[in-house]
Amino acid sequence: MSFGALVSNIGDMEFSAEALERDINNMRKYYGSGKTKETSWRESQLKGLRNFVKENEEEILKALKKDLGKHHVEAFRDEVGTLKKSIDLAIKSFKKWMAGKEAKLPQIALLSSAEIVAEPLGLVLIISSWNFPFGLSLEPLIGAIAAGNVAVLKPSELAPTSSSLLATVLPNYLDNNGIKIIEGGPQIGEHLLHKKWDKIFFTGSARVGRIVMSAAVEHLTPITLELGGKCPALVDSLSTSWDREMAVKRILVAKFGACAGQACIAIDYVLVEKSFSSTLVELMKEGIKKMFGDNPKESNTIARIVNKQHSNRIKSLLNEPNVKESVVFGGSIHDDDLFMEPTILLDPPLESAIMTEEIFGPVLPIITVEKIEDGIEFINSKPKPLAIYAFTKNNTLQRRLVSETSSGSIVFNDAILQYIADTIPFGGVGECGFGKYHGKFSFDAFSHHKAVARRSYYTDFWFRFPPWNLNKFQL
Ligand code: NAD
Repeated sequence: MSFGALVSNIGDMEFSAEALERDINNMRKYYGSGKTKETSWRESQLKGLRNFVKENEEEILKALKKDLGKHHVEAFRDEVGTLKKSIDLAIKSFKKWMAGKEAKLPQIALLSSAEIVAEPLGLVLIISSWNFPFGLSLEPLIGAIAAGNVAVLKPSELAPTSSSLLATVLPNYLDNNGIKIIEGGPQIGEHLLHKKWDKIFFTGSARVGRIVMSAAVEHLTPITLELGGKCPALVDSLSTSWDREMAVKRILVAKFGACAGQACIAIDYVLVEKSFSSTLVELMKEGIKKMFGDNPKESNTIARIVNKQHSNRIKSLLNEPNVKESVVFGGSIHDDDLFMEPTILLDPPLESAIMTEEIFGPVLPIITVEKIEDGIEFINSKPKPLAIYAFTKNNTLQRRLVSETSSGSIVFNDAILQYIADTIPFGGVGECGFGKYHGKFSFDAFSHHKAVARRSYYTDFWFRFPPWNLNKFQL
């Protein structure tokens, strides 16, 4: 596909390769002027972001309803509320994050001092996903702005109302010389990737992550890859009915109540001891009824599958041999409005695609093991997950999970909680990506930590400089 002068990509939107080239050159010049490094610029842009979220809250909630069928409380919890918190933290803290940090040099550098200075990287590209279209676009942008960069953001074309709101309304709140939003799909994404950037921050699939990484090779561009994977949840039998009920509620909301399982850190499957499995299935069935009612579709508390292609993908996962037979609850997808019932499977074949590919939908396989500790070996036999969850009060098991498994994050007795935290890094390891963000980690993701060392002329060690007195160093 050639980009020539003008390319139509999504809907009636047009993309001009020449205009992009011009914009990029102008943004580089703007960065060169030093404007975006000023604290006043950073503060005004962060406040612009905050005003955008505050003043357009209703529009944002409507867009999330239209694109993904998210209930407005869910949308507020996962996007509007979380974003307000992150922006406020950045406004309050970015000057502290910017401040140089003193460091010590070795004694051989007599009379010296050193510091670590955070400098912006320059012109950065952010490509985001559709499942949390505001959060996944603006969380990295907060970091890019706080660190003093100029930034281009490309939201996902699969959440078109949200993407359009970002592209048409957000610019009214920002300095458009330093921040641009470009709408488009894979072709525009690829076109952008081949420009020279000082950082690419990508959220999406491992397949496209590989394309991003190959493109970054051209200019040796540093990248952050926020990808997906299969996040397991170990569920111990837990001793009290209160603990069990609480665990089940948290599992259900993390799986079905956060974009209908279309989340990178959604619980992908559960590992449970055989002896507890039927009790767990019953608790889950009851829990689903309590949480989503007898008719979850009418309750409108479960988001919709993003599009027909994805609902067909989930259908084909369920239609594999022996997978359908393992359905113990739910299972139907309504083509008219892309609603899928919360669905539970018990022991589907481990070699089936539902157990080898990321599910990204409201289907929860439960896999039985003899002893809960066997879950460790099970997890370690798969690629490193973005998150591991374990619902257990067994301290030994908790310690073993921390030390014997590897994952982006590990959470005990809850799920998804790590996404809203600013104090711990959010990001992957292995095939679910690399790089970290949220809170100060977002600032660091878009900064170069420059080493600055200073010496006095007063004195130095004689043995540093030739000619050396060889009598003193006989080998
Ligand atoms: P995707 O990789 O298809 O698309 C992500 C973005 O890349 C979109 O903006 C898309 O337009 C763009 N894109 C697509 N093809 C491209 C190409 N060839 N060149 C350049 N850009 C291209 O992923 P998706 O469907 O949006 O998201 C689903 C995946 O993302 C899942 O695997 C999920 O786990 C992962 N994800 C990860 C996180 C995280 O924080 N780790 C968050 C959300 C989603």
